[in-house]
Amino acid sequence: EAKRMGRNQFVIFDATLRNIAVTNKKVADELLAAIEDDQFEVFYQPQISAHTMELDGVEALVRWHHPTRGQLAPSHFIGTAETTGSIARIDALVLSKASAQFRAWQQSGLHVPHISVNVSAQRLIDPALIKGIAESRLEPGQLCLELLESISFDDQDTSLETSVAAIKAHGVDVEIDDFGTGYASILSLLALSPKRLKIDRQLVFPITTGQSQRRLVASIVEIGRALGIKVIAEGVETAEHVRILRDLGVDTFQGYFFAPPLSADALSRFARKKAWLAHESSAGLKAD
Ligand code: C2E
Ligand code: MG
Ligand code: MG
Ligand code: MG
Repeated sequence: EAKRMGRNQFVIFDATLRNIAVTNKKVADELLAAIEDDQFEVFYQPQISAHTMELDGVEALVRWHHPTRGQLAPSHFIGTAETTGSIARIDALVLSKASAQFRAWQQSGLHVPHISVNVSAQRLIDPALIKGIAESRLEPGQLCLELLESISFDDQDTSLETSVAAIKAHGVDVEIDDFGTGYASILSLLALSPKRLKIDRQLVFPITTGQSQRRLVASIVEIGRALGIKVIAEGVETAEHVRILRDLGVDTFQGYFFAPPLSADALSRFARKKAWLAHESSAGLKAD
């Protein structure tokens, strides 16, 4: 009986795996069509300086306008794009769209200090990356590449260091994304010396629950200070988060408390109105 059950379970498991494989194949084909058909849009999430409460920059986050499934967030397709190799092309598209948008903002008199673009491991070793950076026509300090947690920060990995050095030589900053939960070791901070590090929201969210949670974030801020690296908190959702993070010395806030990722037009309106200030004074917060 046990044996029979075991075999039935195996059959179910096998069918599930096959369904996943079929779904991935379908998504992979759809992704290639989506690249050709320009179905991607870039959204922008504001980053607010904890020191001045001014706009410090925006993060570019891709959305897919799927022909039948509607607007899809990256969690629905980035994994498949990584395993099937289309991620480098998607990242290239996002960089090109985001930098064009950034230049349009500058030309219209809207001051956005910098734009951060996520970069996958495959894109980081793509020989076309440097060409893409040159074509972005952004000035030094205006573009920052966020190295995603899917990138292995093995300290033996000199090719990563070489890629990062080449990027920096073109006036582009790098940032470690999802610090504290990804592959980035503390040692990699020395090897890569990023301009910014972003504390993962899984570390940020629980700071309201206890001293240990707050001390952990405080020690990351300390590491950043010691090495001259700016510290951003992601997943800032409440006024209490803002107050605690400011006391802990975090430099920049990003999260739903200020705004979710916005379309380019919505970001322009939001930035011109400085809409987060009204929000912030209602929460009883003040700039230093
Ligand atoms: P990430 O780079 O860590 O981006 C932050 C994610 O957290 C975004 O999800 C954002 O919408 C979400 N978020 C922002 N504020 C809050 C908050 O207060 N609370 C919570 N719970 N979430 C918040 P999104 O846009 O779904 O992107 C997910 C991930 O997909 C990104 O994580 C990044 O790893 C990846 N991704 C996005 N765009 C690109 C891209 O163009 N290329 C590559 N390779 N990966 C991308
Ligand atoms: Mg990111
Ligand atoms: Mg992140
Ligand atoms: Mg993340």
